[in-house]
Amino acid sequence: MTTATELPSSRLSTAVWERAHDDLLETLRDLIRIRSVNPPDPAEPDGELAAALAIADLLRSSGLEPEVVEPVPGRGSVHARLRGDGTGGDPFLLFSHLDVVPAPPERWSHDPFAADVADGYVYGRGAVDMKDLVAMELGVIRLLADETRAAGLDPARDSVPGLRRDVLFTCTADEEAGGDAGAKWIALERPGWLQAAGAVNESGGVSVTLAGRRVYPIQVAEKGFAPFQIRVRGTWGHGSMPREDNAAVMAATIIERLAVPGPIRLTPVMERFLLALAEVLPREAASVVRGIAAGDPQAEAALDRICEPMYARVVRALIRDTMSPDVVHAGVKYNVIPGDAVIEVDCRVLPGVTLAGALAELERRIGPDLLPACEIESLAWGEPVESPAEGPLWDILVASLRDHDPEAIPIPIMAPFGTDAKSTIPLGIPTYGFSPLRLEPGEPYLERYHGVDERVSLEALRFGLPVLYDVVRRFCG
Ligand SMILES: [Zn+2]
Repeated sequence: MTTATELPSSRLSTAVWERAHDDLLETLRDLIRIRSVNPPDPAEPDGELAAALAIADLLRSSGLEPEVVEPVPGRGSVHARLRGDGTGGDPFLLFSHLDVVPAPPERWSHDPFAADVADGYVYGRGAVDMKDLVAMELGVIRLLADETRAAGLDPARDSVPGLRRDVLFTCTADEEAGGDAGAKWIALERPGWLQAAGAVNESGGVSVTLAGRRVYPIQVAEKGFAPFQIRVRGTWGHGSMPREDNAAVMAATIIERLAVPGPIRLTPVMERFLLALAEVLPREAASVVRGIAAGDPQAEAALDRICEPMYARVVRALIRDTMSPDVVHAGVKYNVIPGDAVIEVDCRVLPGVTLAGALAELERRIGPDLLPACEIESLAWGEPVESPAEGPLWDILVASLRDHDPEAIPIPIMAPFGTDAKSTIPLGIPTYGFSPLRLEPGEPYLERYHGVDERVSLEALRFGLPVLYDVVRRFCG
């Protein structure tokens, strides 16, 4: 471990850091105020483009020459490049998305698009998913551009003093709906915006205090998604004469079969996560977690005793393929037996499972008695992805967290959901969920994703910016 005085961030003055923290807060608030909602709000259909253009303005004010693309009207993504001297290998990618999910304001205590600052927090949709990291990444880019200008150089053309690799900034539209108008389009049409030796992206690097120890799960893998639509064919008839092949009844049986949790299957990442967790937990909790790591269903049943329901749900979702039947339609009138029913099921699969494998498991669960009555259609497919929890970039992420928080315990984790990393990891770009935030013990975080009163603390942002700066300087230095 390096000492604090050797950190790249410590070479910048306190005044520079104070200004960078102020700028970060202002950038985050400006971005929250832009309603870059996905799916686009008909009242403001150009929100994503507006966010991309605002970010481009900011990059231009730092002397860079950003590019904005708009593959679908109103859906903008933005990119900029800082240059290294080219001796350090392929670039480093600061990756992010600028869209947010809708935020019906009824239960919020602050307007979700006002970016109010209250009680030490910035409130608003996108505060944690993920305009906070967008603002942090922009903060690092601006610091590096300022250093270049201070040396009498042009950040759009000359290399940043001390940088041996290029730094790419790519911020996409449409992550919240799968990325067809964002990351997936960019991977095909602007691959140079992504091609890098490594990348940081959302959802990871945020502290969780467990038994008084500060754990920082860094996302190295994410599950795949395979939603299916099942059309169930029964027979139409008169409600006064019930039939066994009432499509609503058949659908109910199918839903019950799908909703039963499948067997535990541990991937190497989750086994390593659980064993690392067991190291920091008190004895009883540690033995439960070790039991789960050994695949013991009884240990899993004891999970509710040792942690909050939210965390228990996450762990359960990460140790198996899951199926959640989320849409059911049947029937037209109370006295008409429905001959058709539609079920949509959200299947999430662990690394190693293919679309064909997911479909085969769905058919097995439906069962041979009901399968002939079903037509199954795949609605989408997002491959499960995994980056190595080792190597130079991983080591730098771990070291930078520890340097800024000597009590940090960084460990690799998988996300139960998908991100734009599905577009980078298959290109051979190790991509890590790393938006460094140090939270207070007991502070809820996962609940704020897509939730009511989404917010991030000013202290957490102050922690994150220099961590990210050091990651970039070290990986590119
Ligand atoms: Zn996100």
